[in-house]
Formats: sequence, C-alpha cells, structure tokens
Amino acid sequence: MIKTFEDKKEEQVETHSDVTSFDSLGLSEPLLKAIAYHGYKKPSAIQAKAIPLIMNGEDVMAAAQTGTGKTASFALPILESLLNKRQSSQRQARVLILTPTRELAAQILASLETYGKYVSSRTAVVFGGVNINPQKNKLKNGVEILVATPGRLLDLYRQKAIRFDELDTFVLDEADRMLDMGFIHDIRKVISLLPKNRQTLLFSATFSNDIRKLAKSIIKNPTEVSVTPRNTAAATISQAVYNVKKSQKSALLSHLISQHSWEQVLVFTKTKHGANRLTDYLKVAGLKSMAIHGNKSQSARTKALADFKKNKIRILIATDIASRGLDIDQLPHVVNYDLPYVAEDYVHRIGRTGRAGAIGEAISLVSADEAKLLKAIQRLIKQEIEIKTCKNFKFEKDDTKQNPNQNFFRKPSKKKRSNYYKR
Ligand code: ADP
Ligand code: MG
Repeated sequence: MIKTFEDKKEEQVETHSDVTSFDSLGLSEPLLKAIAYHGYKKPSAIQAKAIPLIMNGEDVMAAAQTGTGKTASFALPILESLLNKRQSSQRQARVLILTPTRELAAQILASLETYGKYVSSRTAVVFGGVNINPQKNKLKNGVEILVATPGRLLDLYRQKAIRFDELDTFVLDEADRMLDMGFIHDIRKVISLLPKNRQTLLFSATFSNDIRKLAKSIIKNPTEVSVTPRNTAAATISQAVYNVKKSQKSALLSHLISQHSWEQVLVFTKTKHGANRLTDYLKVAGLKSMAIHGNKSQSARTKALADFKKNKIRILIATDIASRGLDIDQLPHVVNYDLPYVAEDYVHRIGRTGRAGAIGEAISLVSADEAKLLKAIQRLIKQEIEIKTCKNFKFEKDDTKQNPNQNFFRKPSKKKRSNYYKR
C-alpha cells in the first residue's frame, strides 16, 4: 500500500505544513478548483511559505528537498498573477521559467496545464534536440508563460523569435542542478536580456555557497525560505545496501525485481553504456526495461518516460543527468545499480521515491570498489544505511581488490568477446 500525506506521523512529514488549506493562501477560485480537482488537500510546507510571498510580489529564493512540491510553489502564484493581466504581444512572454533539462521543462508545462486548467493563459515550452521552427511559430503571437532550457532559449532569441520587453517574472528552477550542469554562463546571458524591473524567483533543492553567490548577483534583496536541512533524504524513504560483487549486480537486480514482484522501479547506472548493457541483460532475463540517457534521441526519452509513467514498462534505467527532477507519481522503488560519484547525487536519485509523503524504498548495490563512495554518502546524509542480504540469492564473496577500470583493459574471454560485439 502506498501511504500518502495524511497517513504519516507528524514529525516524519517534512512536506507537511500548518496551513490547512489552499484557500487561506489567497488564491482565487479558478486555481482552487483546479487544485481540488487534482486532489491536493493542503499545501506542502514550501508552498505555504513561498506562495504568499510570491503573491506579494517579493523576490524569493526557496530551497526544499526534491519532491516537496516546489513546482506548484511558483506555478500557482504565477497563474494567479496572470488572471487579471492583458495578453502579451507578438514574440513576447510575461513569465520565463528556466530549467536545466528537456524532461523537466516538459514536466513544468504539464503542471502549469494542470494547475491552470481554468485559467486562460497561453503557454509554450522550448528545448533543444528538436526542430526549432514549430517553437518559433508557437511564439509568434506571444505567450504568457514560456518554459525553456537555456541553450534553445538563447538560439530563439538570436533568431529574434522571442523578446522580453513585457517580462514581469523570471523563475530559475532547479538552480543547483543548473550550476552542476555548467549552465552558469547561459544563465547570466539570459538574465542580461531581461528587464531590470521584474520579479525573480529561484528554486533549488539545496542552498550551496555557489547558489547563494548566483542569487546575490541576480536578485536584489531576496526573501529566503527553506524547509528542510540540506542533504537529508525524506524520512519516508527506507534505504538499504546489498554488498555484492560487481559481476553479480545484474543477477541480483533481476532476482530482486522478480522475487519481490516490483511493479515499477527506476534504476540508476553510472554510464550510458552501463544502462544499455543492463537493458540487454534484463531482456534476456525476461524483464522489459528501457534506458534514458544523453545518447538517446529526445523522442526515445520522452516515449520511455511516458511508457514508464503509464506502467507499460516496469523498469526504467537512467543516468543522473537524464533523470534529474523527473516527477513520477509515487514511485515505490529506486535502485542504485552503481553508486554515484558525487554523494549529493545519491540524495537526488533517491528523491525520486517517497515523493510528497509517499513511502518509498531505495536500494543500492555496492561492490568492493565502491566502499569509499558509500562512506561519503553516509557522511553526507549523516546516517548509516542498513546492509541487507537476500534469501535465495547466492552471494559470491567479493574479495577482489578491484580497480574500477580493470574491466576496460582486460581482454574479454572468447565467449564474452562474441557477446561484446553483439552489444
Ligand atoms: P519538487 O519540484 O519539489 O521536486 P514537484 O513540484 O515535482 O516537487 O512535486 C512533487 C510531487 O508532489 C508531484 O507529484 C506533485 O503533484 C505532488 N504535490 C505537489 N504539491 C502537492 C500537495 N500540496 N499535495 C499533494 N501532492 C502534491
Ligand atoms: Mg522541481
């Protein structure tokens, strides 16, 4: 059973707020109706704090862990502000939301459509990797809200398809990831194009020093709101580690999935090749999976994600970049097939489960060469992760002093070699 908001003990639910209804936040009828229709009962903590400030016209810098409802925190007041504004002119936008990945951009648009069900505003989403012309067309008559990734937005600007003279509000979503992904110059470039007199909102999972520095340079006097301490995983996620030999990871994974009849699982690998190889392995084991990573075309990624959301495929295998911020409702299982190099990514990865107060399970398959990474993660989350063993699975003892690179240099055996070329 998946538990939600209501079922949880008070102290566990960091998403909980004292504000008991959306009505008390000052949102109007069309928004309240859409929220109710969508099934939200009460605002999350970050929503309760941020929405009134944003509606008050303040610049806000908000941090709350992944899955706490940051999208609605800016989407609702933005939609509210559009209720009594006139439409934008040709090639203009009133609101610009910048986000790091295509998937996130598409997701924000979907949220805007959900919350804005009874608001007549024109929205558009633009990102790279797809034909630019339909996007230009969409902007021709102007839009109220534009969701964009930085590179494509700048392309459109250079091609004079978008202008910002009428811009009132600028949102930087997933600011921490933007910096991680090296978007700082693009962000600065975009900001240099915007009117000085605007409302600026910055959302992030964490407030690192880099984020503060960025914020200082783009926002005058922001009001800071944050809900949870940095780098803690939601209390609703149970975490476990299996110590396993590298060569046994695929077998253990397929065993866990079949044994526990997991219905929907998101698996993280370190590399694109690792993701592809695992997909192939699972296929042979009779488990249908799909991989999303940077080498896949946009349409393949979108389709994989959609099929996963619709439960058409049970297993989605992803690399960190492709997965960031993906919102998949109440995802019960996340597996770290490889531990991430950067400890913070562990928190982001497992944040895919236990969202909005739902119970989730995060499992890591850890081989001997990853011991250091595991230590760094435990230090970061200030928590020791329980080590589990698995009945009916024969673990081989991992006594090799492993060099993470060794597999790349060792010549595969003849049998393996023939498989190798099939990949
Ligand atoms: P974040 O941006 O903080 O990672 P999202 O905005 O993607 O989080 O929201 C995470 C999930 O929580 C989404 O599935 C969203 O529909 C849900 N959610 C957001 N606000 C509420 C709420 N007030 N009540 C219940 N669910 C909510
Ligand atoms: Mg978000």
